[in-house]
Amino acid sequence: MGNLVSISDSSILIGADQPPTVRAPEIEAGVGCDFDSYLLVPDNALDDRIAAAKARLGQDVVILGHHYQRDEVVKFADFRGDSLKLSFQASQAEGRYIVFCGVHFMAESADILRREHQTVVLPDLNAGCSMADMADIGQVEACWRELSSLGNLNITPVTYMNSTAAIKAFTGEHGGAVCTSSNAAAVMKWAFESREKVLFLPDEHLGRNTAYRMGIPLEQMIVWDPYQEFGGNTPEAIRNARVILWKGYCSVHQRFTPQQVERVRRQHPGIRVIAHPECRFEVAQAADAIGSTEGIIKAIEASPVGTEWAVGTEIHLVNRLGKELKNHKVISLDPSVCVCTTMFRITPQHLLWALENLGEGNVVNRISVDERTRHYARVALDRMLSLR
Ligand code: SF4
Repeated sequence: MGNLVSISDSSILIGADQPPTVRAPEIEAGVGCDFDSYLLVPDNALDDRIAAAKARLGQDVVILGHHYQRDEVVKFADFRGDSLKLSFQASQAEGRYIVFCGVHFMAESADILRREHQTVVLPDLNAGCSMADMADIGQVEACWRELSSLGNLNITPVTYMNSTAAIKAFTGEHGGAVCTSSNAAAVMKWAFESREKVLFLPDEHLGRNTAYRMGIPLEQMIVWDPYQEFGGNTPEAIRNARVILWKGYCSVHQRFTPQQVERVRRQHPGIRVIAHPECRFEVAQAADAIGSTEGIIKAIEASPVGTEWAVGTEIHLVNRLGKELKNHKVISLDPSVCVCTTMFRITPQHLLWALENLGEGNVVNRISVDERTRHYARVALDRMLSLR
Protein backbone atom coordinates (compact mmCIF):
# COMPACT_ATOMS: atom_id res chain seq x y z
CA MET A 1 0.00 0.00 0.00
CA GLY A 2 2.97 2.26 -0.54
CA ASN A 3 3.06 5.47 1.39
CA LEU A 4 -0.21 5.25 3.29
CA VAL A 5 -0.04 6.23 6.92
CA SER A 6 -3.52 5.26 8.03
CA ILE A 7 -4.94 2.09 6.60
CA SER A 8 -8.05 0.40 7.78
CA ASP A 9 -8.21 -3.28 6.89
CA SER A 10 -11.79 -2.73 5.98
CA SER A 11 -11.27 0.08 3.53
CA ILE A 12 -10.78 -0.10 -0.16
CA LEU A 13 -8.32 2.65 -0.79
CA ILE A 14 -8.16 3.66 -4.36
CA GLY A 15 -4.91 5.26 -5.35
CA ALA A 16 -2.58 4.48 -2.50
CA ASP A 17 0.89 5.11 -3.92
CA GLN A 18 1.27 8.18 -6.05
CA PRO A 19 -2.46 8.48 -6.21
CA PRO A 20 -3.69 7.52 -9.70
CA THR A 21 -7.03 8.75 -10.90
CA VAL A 22 -10.00 6.42 -10.88
CA ARG A 23 -12.98 6.96 -13.06
CA ALA A 24 -16.32 7.34 -11.42
CA PRO A 25 -18.57 4.79 -13.10
CA GLU A 26 -21.65 6.97 -12.99
CA ILE A 27 -20.19 9.95 -14.78
CA GLU A 28 -18.53 10.57 -18.06
CA ALA A 29 -14.86 9.85 -17.67
CA GLY A 30 -12.38 12.57 -18.41
CA VAL A 31 -8.60 12.57 -18.48
CA GLY A 32 -7.04 12.30 -15.05
CA CYS A 33 -4.54 14.89 -13.89
CA ASP A 34 -1.35 13.71 -12.25
CA PHE A 35 -0.81 15.12 -8.75
CA ASP A 36 2.86 15.92 -9.41
CA SER A 37 1.94 18.64 -11.86
CA TYR A 38 0.00 20.39 -9.05
CA LEU A 39 3.17 20.82 -7.05
CA LEU A 40 4.21 23.33 -9.68
CA VAL A 41 1.11 25.51 -9.39
CA PRO A 42 2.28 28.84 -7.97
CA ASP A 43 0.81 29.72 -4.57
CA ASN A 44 -0.81 32.89 -5.85
CA ALA A 45 -2.79 30.92 -8.45
CA LEU A 46 -4.11 28.27 -6.08
CA ASP A 47 -6.97 30.23 -4.50
CA ASP A 48 -8.51 31.26 -7.81
CA ARG A 49 -8.25 27.76 -9.26
CA ILE A 50 -9.73 26.11 -6.18
CA ALA A 51 -12.60 28.59 -6.15
CA ALA A 52 -13.19 28.02 -9.87
CA ALA A 53 -13.07 24.22 -9.56
CA LYS A 54 -15.49 24.35 -6.64
CA ALA A 55 -17.84 26.69 -8.51
CA ARG A 56 -17.77 24.40 -11.52
CA LEU A 57 -18.88 21.46 -9.40
CA GLY A 58 -21.56 23.60 -7.75
CA GLN A 59 -24.07 21.60 -5.68
CA ASP A 60 -22.33 18.37 -6.66
CA VAL A 61 -19.61 18.87 -4.08
CA VAL A 62 -19.54 19.56 -0.38
CA ILE A 63 -16.19 20.35 1.22
CA LEU A 64 -15.70 19.53 4.89
CA GLY A 65 -12.93 21.10 6.97
CA HIS A 66 -11.92 19.82 10.39
CA HIS A 67 -11.12 22.41 13.07
CA TYR A 68 -7.45 21.33 13.03
CA GLN A 69 -7.07 21.90 9.31
CA ARG A 70 -4.75 24.63 8.02
CA ASP A 71 -6.31 28.00 7.14
CA GLU A 72 -5.40 27.87 3.42
CA VAL A 73 -7.58 24.77 3.09
CA VAL A 74 -10.32 25.27 5.67
CA LYS A 75 -11.34 28.59 4.15
CA PHE A 76 -12.86 26.64 1.24
CA ALA A 77 -14.92 24.39 3.52
CA ASP A 78 -18.71 24.51 3.32
CA PHE A 79 -18.78 23.16 6.86
CA ARG A 80 -16.27 23.36 9.66
CA GLY A 81 -16.45 21.14 12.73
CA ASP A 82 -15.30 18.07 14.59
CA SER A 83 -15.38 14.68 12.91
CA LEU A 84 -18.86 13.59 13.98
CA LYS A 85 -20.51 16.90 13.25
CA LEU A 86 -18.90 17.00 9.81
CA SER A 87 -19.95 13.47 8.91
CA PHE A 88 -23.55 14.26 9.76
CA GLN A 89 -23.48 17.52 7.88
CA ALA A 90 -22.14 15.67 4.86
CA SER A 91 -24.89 13.07 4.95
CA GLN A 92 -27.50 15.83 5.14
CA ALA A 93 -25.97 17.80 2.26
CA GLU A 94 -27.06 17.45 -1.33
CA GLY A 95 -23.60 17.08 -2.82
CA ARG A 96 -22.81 13.72 -4.35
CA TYR A 97 -19.08 14.25 -3.71
CA ILE A 98 -17.93 14.75 -0.14
CA VAL A 99 -14.38 16.09 -0.08
CA PHE A 100 -13.19 15.58 3.48
CA CYS A 101 -10.30 17.81 4.53
CA GLY A 102 -9.50 15.85 7.66
CA VAL A 103 -7.82 12.51 8.32
CA HIS A 104 -8.50 8.98 7.19
CA PHE A 105 -10.78 7.74 9.99
CA MET A 106 -12.95 10.83 9.53
CA ALA A 107 -13.41 10.12 5.83
CA GLU A 108 -14.28 6.52 6.73
CA SER A 109 -16.90 7.76 9.18
CA ALA A 110 -18.35 9.99 6.48
CA ASP A 111 -18.51 6.96 4.19
CA ILE A 112 -20.32 4.95 6.90
CA LEU A 113 -22.91 7.71 7.37
CA ARG A 114 -23.22 8.88 3.76
CA ARG A 115 -26.27 8.41 1.63
CA GLU A 116 -26.28 5.90 -1.23
CA HIS A 117 -25.55 8.35 -4.03
CA GLN A 118 -22.62 10.01 -2.25
CA THR A 119 -18.90 9.39 -2.70
CA VAL A 120 -16.24 10.36 -0.15
CA VAL A 121 -12.84 11.70 -1.20
CA LEU A 122 -9.78 12.30 1.03
CA PRO A 123 -7.49 14.73 -0.84
CA ASP A 124 -4.31 13.09 0.51
CA LEU A 125 -4.32 9.43 1.54
CA ASN A 126 -1.28 10.11 3.72
CA ALA A 127 -3.49 12.09 6.10
CA GLY A 128 -3.77 9.48 8.83
CA CYS A 129 -4.12 9.61 12.62
CA SER A 130 -1.47 8.34 14.99
CA MET A 131 -4.06 7.41 17.58
CA ALA A 132 -6.35 5.46 15.24
CA ASP A 133 -3.31 3.58 13.94
CA MET A 134 -2.50 2.37 17.47
CA ALA A 135 -5.46 -0.03 17.53
CA ASP A 136 -5.07 -2.51 14.73
CA ILE A 137 -8.08 -4.80 14.23
CA GLY A 138 -5.91 -7.92 14.49
CA GLN A 139 -4.56 -6.74 17.85
CA VAL A 140 -8.03 -5.94 19.15
CA GLU A 141 -9.37 -9.35 18.12
CA ALA A 142 -6.39 -11.01 19.83
CA CYS A 143 -7.08 -8.96 22.97
CA TRP A 144 -10.72 -10.05 22.93
CA ARG A 145 -9.69 -13.72 22.58
CA GLU A 146 -7.29 -13.43 25.53
CA LEU A 147 -9.94 -11.75 27.67
CA SER A 148 -12.47 -14.42 26.70
CA SER A 149 -10.00 -17.15 27.68
CA LEU A 150 -10.42 -15.95 31.30
CA GLY A 151 -14.12 -16.82 31.25
CA ASN A 152 -17.12 -14.57 30.80
CA LEU A 153 -15.85 -11.24 32.10
CA ASN A 154 -18.92 -9.34 30.95
CA ILE A 155 -17.14 -6.63 28.96
CA THR A 156 -18.58 -3.97 26.66
CA PRO A 157 -16.22 -2.50 24.07
CA VAL A 158 -16.44 1.27 23.67
CA THR A 159 -14.46 2.94 20.95
CA TYR A 160 -13.68 6.58 20.46
CA MET A 161 -14.71 8.14 17.16
CA ASN A 162 -10.97 8.39 16.41
CA SER A 163 -10.64 4.76 15.37
CA THR A 164 -10.71 2.85 12.13
CA ALA A 165 -13.95 1.61 10.61
CA ALA A 166 -12.82 -1.94 11.40
CA ILE A 167 -12.60 -1.14 15.13
CA LYS A 168 -15.99 0.57 15.07
CA ALA A 169 -17.44 -2.52 13.38
CA PHE A 170 -15.81 -4.83 15.96
CA THR A 171 -17.40 -2.69 18.66
CA GLY A 172 -20.82 -2.83 17.04
CA GLU A 173 -20.64 -6.57 16.51
CA HIS A 174 -19.75 -7.16 20.17
CA GLY A 175 -22.56 -5.12 21.68
CA GLY A 176 -20.62 -1.89 22.17
CA ALA A 177 -20.88 1.70 21.04
CA VAL A 178 -18.83 4.53 19.60
CA CYS A 179 -18.27 7.65 21.70
CA THR A 180 -16.96 11.13 21.09
CA SER A 181 -14.93 13.24 23.49
CA SER A 182 -18.12 15.08 24.47
CA ASN A 183 -20.36 12.07 25.17
CA ALA A 184 -17.80 9.51 26.44
CA ALA A 185 -19.26 9.63 29.98
CA ALA A 186 -22.82 9.00 28.76
CA VAL A 187 -21.64 6.05 26.64
CA MET A 188 -19.61 4.58 29.50
CA LYS A 189 -22.56 4.95 31.86
CA TRP A 190 -24.75 3.11 29.34
CA ALA A 191 -22.12 0.37 29.05
CA PHE A 192 -21.98 -0.15 32.83
CA GLU A 193 -25.75 -0.47 33.01
CA SER A 194 -25.62 -3.80 31.20
CA ARG A 195 -22.13 -5.23 31.80
CA GLU A 196 -19.45 -5.06 34.48
CA LYS A 197 -16.42 -3.90 32.53
CA VAL A 198 -15.53 -1.60 29.65
CA LEU A 199 -12.77 -2.13 27.12
CA PHE A 200 -12.00 1.43 26.04
CA LEU A 201 -10.37 1.91 22.60
CA PRO A 202 -8.03 3.37 21.42
CA ASP A 203 -7.28 6.42 23.63
CA GLU A 204 -5.97 5.61 27.09
CA HIS A 205 -6.23 9.22 28.23
CA LEU A 206 -9.81 9.90 27.17
CA GLY A 207 -10.84 6.62 28.80
CA ARG A 208 -9.03 7.37 32.07
CA ASN A 209 -10.13 11.02 32.28
CA THR A 210 -13.73 10.07 31.61
CA ALA A 211 -13.90 7.12 34.00
CA TYR A 212 -12.20 9.08 36.79
CA ARG A 213 -14.66 11.93 36.47
CA MET A 214 -17.45 9.35 36.72
CA GLY A 215 -16.07 8.31 40.10
CA ILE A 216 -14.15 5.20 39.11
CA PRO A 217 -10.85 5.13 41.05
CA LEU A 218 -7.57 4.75 39.18
CA GLU A 219 -6.96 1.41 40.95
CA GLN A 220 -9.91 -0.04 39.04
CA MET A 221 -8.37 0.80 35.67
CA ILE A 222 -5.67 -1.15 33.88
CA VAL A 223 -3.81 -0.46 30.64
CA TRP A 224 -3.78 -3.05 27.86
CA ASP A 225 -0.51 -3.10 25.96
CA PRO A 226 -1.20 -4.96 22.70
CA TYR A 227 2.44 -6.05 22.45
CA GLN A 228 2.35 -8.05 25.70
CA GLU A 229 0.58 -11.21 26.78
CA PHE A 230 -2.71 -10.33 28.50
CA GLY A 231 -1.83 -6.74 27.74
CA GLY A 232 0.92 -6.87 30.37
CA ASN A 233 -1.56 -7.68 33.17
CA THR A 234 -2.11 -10.64 35.45
CA PRO A 235 -5.41 -12.51 35.14
CA GLU A 236 -6.24 -11.34 38.64
CA ALA A 237 -5.71 -7.67 37.74
CA ILE A 238 -7.94 -8.11 34.69
CA ARG A 239 -10.68 -9.75 36.76
CA ASN A 240 -10.54 -6.91 39.31
CA ALA A 241 -10.53 -4.07 36.77
CA ARG A 242 -13.63 -2.17 35.75
CA VAL A 243 -12.03 -0.29 32.87
CA ILE A 244 -9.46 -1.76 30.48
CA LEU A 245 -7.71 1.10 28.70
CA TRP A 246 -6.14 0.40 25.33
CA LYS A 247 -2.59 1.72 25.24
CA GLY A 248 -3.08 4.38 22.60
CA TYR A 249 -2.79 8.14 22.56
CA CYS A 250 -2.81 11.22 20.38
CA SER A 251 0.71 12.33 19.60
CA VAL A 252 -0.47 15.96 19.59
CA HIS A 253 -2.42 16.07 22.86
CA GLN A 254 0.00 13.87 24.78
CA ARG A 255 2.62 16.60 24.44
CA PHE A 256 0.91 18.87 26.96
CA THR A 257 2.33 18.66 30.48
CA PRO A 258 1.36 19.80 34.00
CA GLN A 259 4.55 21.91 34.02
CA GLN A 260 3.15 23.92 31.11
CA VAL A 261 -0.02 24.53 33.13
CA GLU A 262 2.07 25.81 36.05
CA ARG A 263 4.18 28.00 33.79
CA VAL A 264 1.29 29.64 31.96
CA ARG A 265 -0.35 30.43 35.29
CA ARG A 266 2.87 32.02 36.53
CA GLN A 267 3.29 34.07 33.37
CA HIS A 268 -0.38 35.04 33.01
CA PRO A 269 -1.98 35.44 36.44
CA GLY A 270 -5.72 34.85 36.27
CA ILE A 271 -5.59 32.89 33.00
CA ARG A 272 -7.96 29.95 32.63
CA VAL A 273 -6.62 26.67 31.33
CA ILE A 274 -8.80 24.37 29.25
CA ALA A 275 -7.53 21.01 28.01
CA HIS A 276 -8.86 18.44 25.58
CA PRO A 277 -9.65 15.11 27.27
CA GLU A 278 -7.07 13.40 25.03
CA CYS A 279 -4.46 15.10 27.24
CA ARG A 280 -2.76 13.11 30.00
CA PHE A 281 -4.52 12.61 33.32
CA GLU A 282 -2.13 14.98 35.15
CA VAL A 283 -2.88 17.78 32.68
CA ALA A 284 -6.61 17.19 32.88
CA GLN A 285 -6.37 17.33 36.68
CA ALA A 286 -4.36 20.55 36.64
CA ALA A 287 -6.59 22.36 34.12
CA ASP A 288 -9.53 24.56 35.11
CA ALA A 289 -11.74 22.86 32.58
CA ILE A 290 -11.84 19.92 30.17
CA GLY A 291 -13.47 20.29 26.79
CA SER A 292 -13.90 18.42 23.53
CA THR A 293 -13.04 20.36 20.39
CA GLU A 294 -16.54 21.81 20.18
CA GLY A 295 -16.65 22.11 23.99
CA ILE A 296 -13.52 24.28 24.02
CA ILE A 297 -15.01 26.64 21.46
CA LYS A 298 -18.28 26.93 23.38
CA ALA A 299 -16.56 27.45 26.74
CA ILE A 300 -14.43 30.30 25.43
CA GLU A 301 -17.32 31.91 23.57
CA ALA A 302 -19.49 31.77 26.70
CA SER A 303 -16.85 33.24 29.02
CA PRO A 304 -16.94 36.90 30.10
CA VAL A 305 -15.39 39.45 27.73
CA GLY A 306 -11.67 39.82 28.34
CA THR A 307 -11.14 36.31 29.73
CA GLU A 308 -7.70 34.98 28.97
CA TRP A 309 -7.43 31.30 27.99
CA ALA A 310 -4.57 28.84 27.59
CA VAL A 311 -5.79 25.97 25.45
CA GLY A 312 -4.41 22.44 25.32
CA THR A 313 -5.34 21.32 21.83
CA GLU A 314 -4.14 21.45 18.22
CA ILE A 315 -2.50 24.72 17.25
CA HIS A 316 -4.56 25.56 14.14
CA LEU A 317 -7.75 25.63 16.20
CA VAL A 318 -6.06 27.64 18.97
CA ASN A 319 -4.71 30.23 16.52
CA ARG A 320 -8.06 30.49 14.72
CA LEU A 321 -9.88 31.05 18.01
CA GLY A 322 -7.32 33.71 18.88
CA LYS A 323 -8.09 35.50 15.62
CA GLU A 324 -11.84 35.04 15.52
CA LEU A 325 -12.82 35.56 19.17
CA LYS A 326 -11.76 39.17 19.47
CA ASN A 327 -13.27 39.62 22.93
CA HIS A 328 -10.96 37.02 24.47
CA LYS A 329 -7.28 36.33 24.53
CA VAL A 330 -6.50 32.77 23.45
CA ILE A 331 -3.03 31.24 23.56
CA SER A 332 -1.64 27.73 23.30
CA LEU A 333 -0.64 25.86 26.41
CA ASP A 334 2.44 24.63 24.57
CA PRO A 335 4.71 27.44 23.40
CA SER A 336 6.62 25.07 21.11
CA VAL A 337 3.47 24.48 18.97
CA CYS A 338 1.35 21.34 18.82
CA VAL A 339 0.41 20.60 15.24
CA CYS A 340 -1.39 17.56 13.85
CA THR A 341 1.19 16.80 11.20
CA THR A 342 -0.90 14.22 9.41
CA MET A 343 -3.85 16.54 8.97
CA PHE A 344 -1.38 19.17 7.83
CA ARG A 345 -0.56 16.93 4.87
CA ILE A 346 -3.68 18.12 3.10
CA THR A 347 -2.45 21.11 1.18
CA PRO A 348 -4.27 23.50 -1.14
CA GLN A 349 -2.57 21.59 -3.97
CA HIS A 350 -4.24 18.34 -2.85
CA LEU A 351 -7.60 20.05 -2.59
CA LEU A 352 -7.23 21.57 -6.05
CA TRP A 353 -6.11 18.23 -7.52
CA ALA A 354 -9.15 16.45 -6.04
CA LEU A 355 -11.63 19.12 -7.17
CA GLU A 356 -10.29 19.51 -10.70
CA ASN A 357 -10.31 15.74 -11.16
CA LEU A 358 -13.91 15.56 -9.96
CA GLY A 359 -14.71 18.33 -12.42
CA GLU A 360 -13.19 16.19 -15.18
CA GLY A 361 -15.24 13.18 -14.15
CA ASN A 362 -12.48 11.38 -12.26
CA VAL A 363 -12.90 10.31 -8.64
CA VAL A 364 -9.51 10.36 -6.94
CA ASN A 365 -8.64 9.00 -3.49
CA ARG A 366 -12.08 7.55 -2.88
CA ILE A 367 -12.62 6.15 0.62
CA SER A 368 -14.98 3.21 0.53
CA VAL A 369 -15.72 1.02 3.54
CA ASP A 370 -16.93 -2.48 2.67
CA GLU A 371 -20.59 -3.26 3.29
CA ARG A 372 -20.19 -5.64 6.25
CA THR A 373 -17.87 -3.26 8.09
CA ARG A 374 -20.14 -0.38 7.27
CA HIS A 375 -23.14 -2.25 8.67
CA TYR A 376 -21.60 -3.07 12.07
CA ALA A 377 -19.84 0.28 12.40
CA ARG A 378 -23.21 1.89 11.81
CA VAL A 379 -24.67 -0.28 14.58
CA ALA A 380 -22.04 1.09 17.01
CA LEU A 381 -22.65 4.67 15.85
CA ASP A 382 -26.43 4.30 16.09
CA ARG A 383 -26.11 3.00 19.66
CA MET A 384 -24.22 6.15 20.57
CA LEU A 385 -26.77 8.37 18.85
CA SER A 386 -29.66 6.69 20.64
CA LEU A 387 -28.10 7.88 23.92
CA ARG A 388 -28.32 11.56 23.04
S1 SF4 B 1 -4.96 15.55 16.61
FE1 SF4 B 1 -4.38 13.50 17.33
S2 SF4 B 1 -6.29 12.31 17.40
FE2 SF4 B 1 -6.69 14.18 16.16
S3 SF4 B 1 -6.31 13.51 14.04
FE3 SF4 B 1 -4.36 14.39 14.79
S4 SF4 B 1 -3.21 12.62 15.59
FE4 SF4 B 1 -5.36 11.96 15.38
